Amino acid sequence: MRYLLLLLPLLLFEGDASTFEYRTPNFVVFCHDASFAVQVGEAAEYYREKHAKEWLGKSIPNWYSPCPIRVNLINDAGAGATTFSFDQGEVFGWDMQIQGTPQSLMDSVIPHEVLHTVFASHFRRPLPRWADEGAATYEEDESEKQIHRQLAEQVVGTEQQIPIRRLLVMHHYPDNMGGIAVLYAQGFYLAEFLINRKGKQEFIKFLDTAYRTDWDRAFEKHYGFKNQEAAYTPAWKEHSQPKQQMASRYEIKMFTSPNCQRCEEDRRKVLPLLKAKGLIVEILDYDRNLDLARKENVIGLPTYIIYENGKRIAKLRESRAISSLLKRHH
Ligand SMILES: [Zn+2]
Repeated sequence: MRYLLLLLPLLLFEGDASTFEYRTPNFVVFCHDASFAVQVGEAAEYYREKHAKEWLGKSIPNWYSPCPIRVNLINDAGAGATTFSFDQGEVFGWDMQIQGTPQSLMDSVIPHEVLHTVFASHFRRPLPRWADEGAATYEEDESEKQIHRQLAEQVVGTEQQIPIRRLLVMHHYPDNMGGIAVLYAQGFYLAEFLINRKGKQEFIKFLDTAYRTDWDRAFEKHYGFKNQEAAYTPAWKEHSQPKQQMASRYEIKMFTSPNCQRCEEDRRKVLPLLKAKGLIVEILDYDRNLDLARKENVIGLPTYIIYENGKRIAKLRESRAISSLLKRHH
């Protein structure tokens, strides 16, 4: 399932007399646009074969009954949901619903949803969400992946971040939209890090080992990490190299006082975001740093003074302005 589905309700596909039906060996597509139905069916077969070879190292046999794909062509962000059931190691009751523009369906939604069906055929049991969604998102268009990376980086060190020991074993989606988006983002972030290291087939073997033993052993055996935390930390570090340069380039001083409500609010809400960008904020009490505060002409709290390579470049009252200011300088 793509998480947008959970943000935008998926329109239920309504078949009627004008619905075109296109059959391939493993799929049957329902769509009001006949030529697009053909494109979807061919793309689904193409990805089924391609994914199976890349992730499992071999093709998978044709399914006993085809998976229906119900297509809603709408002028909106792509979304999809694939459901199936497991019973004693068998998969049955396939159903895939997809919606969006033709381009979003072809570039991201179909490759994503079809990977879920390939994984279901291979594992024949439900997978932890982070791994299933993380791998499926790996097959999406780069523009979609970038959105997940950004969110994953934003939540580092904040209350929103899901601790790794919980993330790895989650079999259900969180019960709020923000939580779902974070699960997708962190799941993709970790999956991408592992897949980029040793490829898709090793990732499958890693999931198999985790199922048979436990996560710590799987990380050690397949990626050489001592345990889950040891695997997670370098994933963040690798992606945050440019940020360390940013931290050494910029310095921020924040003037506050104990009775300043807005300062307290900023400390809770804004500082974690700045930290996620690799920026370190020095917090200075106004009364205890009166000389510096006067020299910097601080007249309200909080006030942020920003230095670039040691040179004072701005004084801001609005914390929100910090990010945009730094963006301009990049
Ligand atoms: Zn999905």
